[in-house]
Amino acid sequence: MSPRRRIIPLFVPHLGCPNDCVFCNQRKISGSLTPADGDTVRRTLDAAREYTPDGAELAFYGGSFTAIPQQQQRELLEAARPYMEEGFIGEIRVSTRPDKIDHKALALLGEYGVKTIELGSQSMDEKVLRMSGRGHTAEDTRRAAALIKAAGFRLMLQMMTGLPGSSMESDIMTARELIKLGPDGVRIYPTVIIRETALYDLWQAGKYHEHTVEDAVSVCAELVKEFSAAGIPIIRLGLNPTDDLSAGEAAAGAYHPALGELVYSRVYLQKAEKLIEESGCRGEVTLGVHPSRVSLMTGQKRQNIAKLKERFGLTELKVIKSEVNDGEIVILP
Ligand code: SF4
Repeated sequence: MSPRRRIIPLFVPHLGCPNDCVFCNQRKISGSLTPADGDTVRRTLDAAREYTPDGAELAFYGGSFTAIPQQQQRELLEAARPYMEEGFIGEIRVSTRPDKIDHKALALLGEYGVKTIELGSQSMDEKVLRMSGRGHTAEDTRRAAALIKAAGFRLMLQMMTGLPGSSMESDIMTARELIKLGPDGVRIYPTVIIRETALYDLWQAGKYHEHTVEDAVSVCAELVKEFSAAGIPIIRLGLNPTDDLSAGEAAAGAYHPALGELVYSRVYLQKAEKLIEESGCRGEVTLGVHPSRVSLMTGQKRQNIAKLKERFGLTELKVIKSEVNDGEIVILP
């Protein structure tokens, strides 16, 4: 397997999108106001040589790539071609919508060496898709995923939690349905209420209840277990923090710069609870975890330690580095 290379993101905000999904404002999410064109591609890649001299992956994000007029897709991909030929760009990935995948779209991407397609499935619950203004069905996701895999591309699926009309159960159902499609990886984006979106207006009008950071942590901890059990890597959990979002464009919802850490820390807490419960240990307990996971087990502000001590009436709880597998927890003598 080739080493994972740095990704150079190029944003095409809302290009190709037939409408704006209720939660989406790519100009604020990406911090990019104008869509990339051929010149932007060349400028960005030339500049990237400074910080990634060994090359990188190029990614077109923030729009519906395969729904952009084909001539414009060609302009973007053509601009990257020389960089691929010289080996600076190892591969290209694009993100798009499930209802904009067909043989013609895939043939064009294949022609330019695109290797990975990220599909914004968001939910497999028809009601949620409708209420979120997605404009496609769960069946579109199944059909597109099958076409992408049959054509030999790597498939990444994106899902969201806490969308209008969703529940913990429907988000878990979505994860299980996505697992059946055999993706090479997934991204999970808990819903954030971003200003200048229809969702923001719905929330202000009291017609949408915020998906809080705690809600997101609870549901995502379950999703982590589902995807891990299926051996599917989660390559991103939570929106990438940007200056704009942190400065207030993320008005409410599951926006937290370290959301992934909070979720994995919750998974560790739940595992430790089960372990201590089953062991019957009380008094002083020492947990051993993989050396890189001590902070996840301990939790932010030592919250996991406090919760475990309180729940089991422990007098002392230590977490130490141990020679165990990543993800494993043991009770040490
Ligand atoms: S979520 Fe995707 S399809 Fe919907 S408006 Fe945003 S970029 Fe376009």
